[in-house]
Amino acid sequence: MPSGPVLLTMSTEGGATRFAPADPAAPQLRVDDLGATRGDGVFESIGVVGGNVQSLRHHLERFARSAAMLELPAPDLDAWAEAVRRAAAEHDPLPEVLVKLVLTRGVEGTGVPTGWVHAFPAADYSRERREGIDVLVLERAYPSDVTTRAPWLLQGAKTLSYALNTASLRHARARGAHDVLFVSSDGDVLEGPNSTVLAKFADRWATTPPELGLLDGTTQGRAFRLAAQRGERAEVTRLRLDELAGAEVVWLVSSGRQCAPVRSLDGVPRPWDPQLQAELLQHLLTVHD
Ligand code: PLP
Repeated sequence: MPSGPVLLTMSTEGGATRFAPADPAAPQLRVDDLGATRGDGVFESIGVVGGNVQSLRHHLERFARSAAMLELPAPDLDAWAEAVRRAAAEHDPLPEVLVKLVLTRGVEGTGVPTGWVHAFPAADYSRERREGIDVLVLERAYPSDVTTRAPWLLQGAKTLSYALNTASLRHARARGAHDVLFVSSDGDVLEGPNSTVLAKFADRWATTPPELGLLDGTTQGRAFRLAAQRGERAEVTRLRLDELAGAEVVWLVSSGRQCAPVRSLDGVPRPWDPQLQAELLQHLLTVHD
């Protein structure tokens, strides 16, 4: 029977991870949960297209890596995978749904993590997919070796502390842009506040390396398979901002939105190919692993 949003909450009693249905419209979180009071936790957002969960294994591996970086208890990935599939299957059969996985350090003083899986309708991204986006370049103000120099900054973990990311988006929107491209203090192209940078040059596709403190993007991973299908080279490589000027198309890619071509960067219009955008979008909506 169709339902609205679906919520499954985690328990770890007796050492076994289990998920049980809960009312997504009812309060579930205690006010002293460290996820709420400190942003001390990790999450994933997974796209479900036509009922197919996208890049599930990749998302779960990244979830486990984020948890390890915060020294949270290792999530039981089989139990989480089953919960994600169940939430996706029990949701109304919409064309596009998002499933959010959250794991926090739990109620302060208990040492018991809090976790849940929440499926809900995806936002409507049709306009950015069709028309492209205006992107502002902003400094993340960390050096490109931040992960080794300052691992406590947790760059590259998908933590609940996204207030900085959303602040950067407000900053961009107040200046008439839709989104942000971060650069390091030493000039490396990094990522968006909630997206990976993908560039198509005449002779190759490119994205920036997670070693710079970036999320290892699942959407970018699926996009590279299109490059392989087209017989084109794809590489994970450092990029300088001025190199992007030579790209045929630059995208911001992420679960949910899939791919949005950058139509201007810092106010400078840039080319993008609607046909290639349509091909990439179609690929991303149909290739699920
Ligand atoms: N980088 C950041 C900081 C993100 O928050 C996200 C996704 O939300 C991404 C990259 C893209 O990752 P994915 O394609 O797996 O959604």
